[in-house]
Amino acid sequence: MKMSTSGATASLSSLQILKSFNVKSKITQEAQMTLLENARIRLGWVKAHLGIKGNDIADSLSKEATTDGIPASLPFPKSFLQKQLLQLSLSRWQAEWDNGETGRSVYSIIPKISNKQLHWSRECIEFATGHLPFPSYLKRFGFHFTDYCGCGEIGNALHYATSC
Ligand SMILES: [Zn+2]
Repeated sequence: MKMSTSGATASLSSLQILKSFNVKSKITQEAQMTLLENARIRLGWVKAHLGIKGNDIADSLSKEATTDGIPASLPFPKSFLQKQLLQLSLSRWQAEWDNGETGRSVYSIIPKISNKQLHWSRECIEFATGHLPFPSYLKRFGFHFTDYCGCGEIGNALHYATSC
């Protein structure tokens, strides 16, 4: 049996997703299980509108689904779900920020994430990120031979602001 797909890029990316190991979508996982259990089913991309019967049927079914499909009914008001999703994404973002490995100098100043814009001056941003012409920053890009200050401590922005 040969299943046909068309619709160029959309179907090609569907085939890519089916080959992927790291899939979270339930419908894709079910499709993968079906394919694993049925070795006779083969997927392949074919050009659209060539009069291939299965392909034409798939085309008209997908068109039908977009025009005559039953709208999904949500068990909660949209505003409630939006709030839930926002909370979920903020807590995920916080967890990633807490356990991240990059941006640690900024983390030491702003440990709590927020989706509100911070109105920082350019100087504040440079100080927090360490993007200032001090040895620790210059060394990273090969513009300085050491990341130490003349006094023997690491020459970063905090060092020059607080002790040197
Ligand atoms: Zn120093």
